[in-house]
Amino acid sequence: MKAHDAMYTGGRWRSSVSTESIAVVNPADERIIAEVPAGNAEDVDAAVRAAREAFPAWAATPQARRAALLGAVRDALAARQDEIAETVTAELGAPPGFARAVHAALPVAVAGSYAELAAGYSFEERIGNSTVLLEPVGVVGAITPWNYPLHQVVAKAAPALAAGCTVVLKPAENTPLTAQLFAEAVDEAGVPAGVFNLVTGLGPVAGAALAAHQDVDLVSFTGSTAVGRRIGAIAGGAVKRVALELGGKSANVILPGADLARAVREGVANVMSNSGQTCSAWTRMLVHRDRYEEAVELAKEAVAAYPPGERIGPVVSARQWERVRGYIDKGVAEGARLVAGGPEAPRDRGYYVSPTVFADVTPEMTIAQEEIFGPVVALLPYEDTEDALRIANGTVYGLGGAVWAADDAEAVAFARRMDTGQVHINGGRFNPLAPFGGYKQSGVGRELGPHGLAEYLQTKSLQF
Ligand code: ADP
Repeated sequence: MKAHDAMYTGGRWRSSVSTESIAVVNPADERIIAEVPAGNAEDVDAAVRAAREAFPAWAATPQARRAALLGAVRDALAARQDEIAETVTAELGAPPGFARAVHAALPVAVAGSYAELAAGYSFEERIGNSTVLLEPVGVVGAITPWNYPLHQVVAKAAPALAAGCTVVLKPAENTPLTAQLFAEAVDEAGVPAGVFNLVTGLGPVAGAALAAHQDVDLVSFTGSTAVGRRIGAIAGGAVKRVALELGGKSANVILPGADLARAVREGVANVMSNSGQTCSAWTRMLVHRDRYEEAVELAKEAVAAYPPGERIGPVVSARQWERVRGYIDKGVAEGARLVAGGPEAPRDRGYYVSPTVFADVTPEMTIAQEEIFGPVVALLPYEDTEDALRIANGTVYGLGGAVWAADDAEAVAFARRMDTGQVHINGGRFNPLAPFGGYKQSGVGRELGPHGLAEYLQTKSLQF
C-alpha cells in the first residue's frame, strides 16, 4: 500500500524528527501493509507552529475563498474515491461495497456541505445595540479514531477550516493511510500552507502532546471515554475549548404497535454495519415482553445474512478482537442466552467475529452497560412503556437511538423523553447535516452541519 514516510506540515511532506514508525496491519489477513512515522512531541510542536503561523491569514481570508477551497477539497476527495475505498478496506477491513458507499462517499458529502455552509454562514449577528462577531477559535488539535477513518477526519477538519481555524490532525494509529490521502487532497486543492497539518503517531505520545500543547486553542477528540476523560481534564486545566465524541450504548426501542419484522431487521443491520464499530450503533434492542420470543427468532434470522468475510468485515485489530470476544464470554458467564454467534473465531485468518445475538439480557449485565464495539446485539425485554424508558435511559451513555411505533407521533413522544443526542424515528435516514453528539458521558459538543461549524467559533460583542 502506498504510504508517505513523512508528516504533512506547513504545506509539505517532511521527514519526522522521530525515527520510530508504526506498522499498519490489514485486519482481514493480519499482514503488514505499510509503515508510517510515529511522530513525537517535537513533530507535534512543528505542526502546531505551522498552524499558528498560518492562522491570522486564514482567519482573515474572505469566507467565499475559504468556501471555494473547501469545494476544491471536496472535488479532490471525490476524484480519489476508489483509492480511498481501497485504502479503508486495506487498513480497516471494511467490505469493498461498504467502503465505497459509506467510507468514501460520506466524507465527500460532508466536505461539500461545509463548502456550502462556509459560503452562506453569517459570521455576524445583531443583538440590541450590539454587533456580535463570530470569530474562529484559533489552532485546532484534532484527534480521531479508526472506525470511520476519513469521515471522522472530515467531520473535524472541514468545519474548522470553514470557520477560519487552522488544524493539526493526529489520526488513529490503525488507519493513518486514509488520513494521508486526506492531506494529499488538501494539498492538491491548494489550501494555503500550514492551514491543515498531519502528524501520524501513537495516542499516548503524539496524541497526548497535541492535547497538552499550550498553543492549541481547541481540542476536538473522538474515541474512547477513558481517553476522552483524560483529554477533557487536560483541556480543563489549561482552560482551552474541548469537544469530545465518546462511546455509546444506544437503545433501539420497538414499541408494541411497530412493524416488528422491519424494526428487528434494520436494528440488526445497524449493529452489523462496519462490524459493529460505530459509536452510535443501536446495540440494545428493547422489545415488549409479549412479542419478545418472536423478535429473538427474527434477530437470529437477520444475523444469518451476515457471513463473516462477505457482508461483514473483521474488527480492526487483534486488541479489538480480544476485547469483543471477551465481552461475548462475559455475556454467557453473566447468564444471557446466546442465540447466534459466539466467541469462536469464524475464520482461520483475520480478526473476524461471528455476528452475535444475545437474548434474556437484563439491564445491569455488562453487555447491556458497556460499549462492545463489535457485531453483538443484546435483546432486552420490557414490561411497559415506562419500563422501556427506564431501560433506554439506564446507562451512562446517550449518543444515538431509535424508536419504532405505530406512527411517528407516538415514536416522537417517546424520543422526547430519551436522554440521547440523536433518535431515528421509524427508520428515518442518517442526516449528514444534523447535529451529532452526546448527552451524558457520550460527550461534549456537536459535529456536522451548522452546529458542527459553531463549535469552532467564539464570540466578540461590540456595543454601539
Ligand atoms: P480505541 O481504544 O478505540 O482505539 P482511543 O480512545 O484509544 O480509542 O483512540 C482514539 C484516538 O485517541 C486515537 O487517535 C488514539 O491514538 C488517540 N489516543 C489514545 N490515547 C491517547 C492519549 N493518552 N492522549 C491523546 N490521544 C490519545
